[in-house]
Amino acid sequence: MASELFLEGFDHVDLFECGRLEIAIKLTCPVCQHGRSFDAYALWALFERRGWSLKLKDAAKHFHCIPCGLAKRRVRPVLAFGNDAVNDDILKRPSARTIEAEAKRRIR
Ligand SMILES: [Zn+2]
Repeated sequence: MASELFLEGFDHVDLFECGRLEIAIKLTCPVCQHGRSFDAYALWALFERRGWSLKLKDAAKHFHCIPCGLAKRRVRPVLAFGNDAVNDDILKRPSARTIEAEAKRRIR
């Protein structure tokens, strides 16, 4: 699958780094093609809070497709990244201060 090829070599990149690179995280359902694009910093903040792995390769397993869920199918979306416009605003980007603090923490 194209998106998996694209992820090759980037699977250990973490969500915060994607935020730094202004990369949107895109999750697409392989069954119904429903797709959502998330702000990488917004996902980072959620994953950090929950203590989940921040690596791209581990991110998709925390999601399932909502339209398929309503149709009683449990489908895991496929993760890709790109510069698509973010179309999911349920998850809010953390404040610039929070992002800066994390960036500084990582330099140390
Ligand atoms: Zn679906």
